[in-house]
Amino acid sequence: MPLVNMNELMAIATKNNLMLPAYNSTDIQMTLGIMDAFQRAGMPGIIQIAPTNIKVTGYEYIAETTKMAAKHYVTPFALHLDHGKTLDDVRQAVQAGFTSVMIDGAALPFEENIRFSREAVDFAHCYGVPVEAELGALKGKEDDHVSEADCHTDPAQVEEFCERTGCDSLAVSIGNVHGLEEKPKIDLGVLAEISKVSPVPLVLHGGSGIPFETLRAMRPYGMKKINIASDLRQAYIRAVAARYEKNHNEANLASVLLDARNAVSEMAYELAIEINKDVLIGKFSEQ
Ligand SMILES: [Zn+2]
Repeated sequence: MPLVNMNELMAIATKNNLMLPAYNSTDIQMTLGIMDAFQRAGMPGIIQIAPTNIKVTGYEYIAETTKMAAKHYVTPFALHLDHGKTLDDVRQAVQAGFTSVMIDGAALPFEENIRFSREAVDFAHCYGVPVEAELGALKGKEDDHVSEADCHTDPAQVEEFCERTGCDSLAVSIGNVHGLEEKPKIDLGVLAEISKVSPVPLVLHGGSGIPFETLRAMRPYGMKKINIASDLRQAYIRAVAARYEKNHNEANLASVLLDARNAVSEMAYELAIEINKDVLIGKFSEQ
């Protein structure tokens, strides 16, 4: 089916009490592996790409190949821009056909973050594309970008931030980190406070490395989207490395890439099921 708007996906997640994993893709094999996993899990899915990945392929190429691939699945997929750092990132993604974007002004002071995010919202909403904004900075390594800042989202600022930016969802900093080098220290108390005042669904970045139990404990607090990148990238790299280890003369690239796609798919499926195990148990037993 055609790509769907993120608002529609969020509505499905809300109706079914799901937390949707949003998987970062790097190339078409990863995208296909992720799509296979969501279809197998019977869950709508989010595929996301950060501007750092644009070095590999441009926005249009990503949008067109994802649209083409999605046609072969009955599962609804949204294509999301992860960590748009500039308004130009947002413009290019929206114009290429992404069905959701993030604007990342988290490193800016409060008022500047509002102004910056508002500009992205005003642009994207003209095209009917929803915007995820971020309040509070995350520690850790995100591709080539390293952040030392570790600033929890202040619940007292959440309502004003969402109202003044007009954002459709909010990425929060509650002790979650980017990458696998820092250890997350999740503060569910802060999340509970945020959820009391947030008018929009919440997003967790840095889902890799957080125990499933902790992720599942976020469900009552408006958490709808869990970003996961490192787990799938490692699955891909390990699958390729295993083939090389097995045979240093390996030249069957198609077969190696299929292994990588399957490894990504397996990991994506397991994570989607684990994160939603508590709600899926009832669903599967009813069928
Ligand atoms: Zn992130």
